[in-house]
Amino acid sequence: MSSNGDITTGNTNDDRYTIWLDIDNTLYSASARISQAMGERIHAYFVALGFPEDEATELHHKYYNQYGLALRGLVRHHNIDPLDFNRKCDGSLPLEDALNPDPKLRKLLQDIDRSKARVWALTNAYKTHAQRVLRILGVEDQIEGLVYCDYSKPDFSCKPEAEYYHNALRQANISNPAKCCFVDDSRTNVNAAQSLGWGRCVHFCEKGLIVVEGGKAREIGKDLTAAADDSGITTITDLEELRTVWSDLFKI
Ligand SMILES: [Mg+2]
Repeated sequence: MSSNGDITTGNTNDDRYTIWLDIDNTLYSASARISQAMGERIHAYFVALGFPEDEATELHHKYYNQYGLALRGLVRHHNIDPLDFNRKCDGSLPLEDALNPDPKLRKLLQDIDRSKARVWALTNAYKTHAQRVLRILGVEDQIEGLVYCDYSKPDFSCKPEAEYYHNALRQANISNPAKCCFVDDSRTNVNAAQSLGWGRCVHFCEKGLIVVEGGKAREIGKDLTAAADDSGITTITDLEELRTVWSDLFKI
């Protein structure tokens, strides 16, 4: 990744695969409980806007479900400054306490054959949070490009909006979405990528762990139906399984 975190531009003649990695609750486990800390901060943000506790809870959940990101609803309906939100919510997370360098993850990324695949990150967070997580995990130098939610633009898009994925392809100079490999802990985000023709989609699903989404706790994997098995989306519970799922993209 470029040192200032700005988006790097892919080569038009590059016909390698691109591996797209979600960051939060994918590159680190939901057991780090960062989603819980995040949920508390977002709730406090709603309350600070003047909403009573119960209304704050309801709106937080509603916006998350509606837009894939509570912040999207806050910007759209309450005219808040996304960068202020970023400072108070993501920016105040105790990530240095909750996360550690992850040599196993680093080795996994190092073992990807870069002559066959580029490795990019694709996050709904702003770049400051994304870079901070990658730095703490010790994998920043393994990520060649970063697509993030640009909170500095009032009409920024986010996963699972189609525009966000189209934008990602543009930034990475990818003309054929079939050459995209994507892993995300949000089934909704993975489904969206698949519906747009992204070729090799993987749902990272730490079954049984608790994650907080839209301010509400949810048991991971509980809502997956049998139909999900026929979707063509591979479900994994450990990122190490990517070595098998995308075996052609790894060095031996
Ligand atoms: Mg995630």
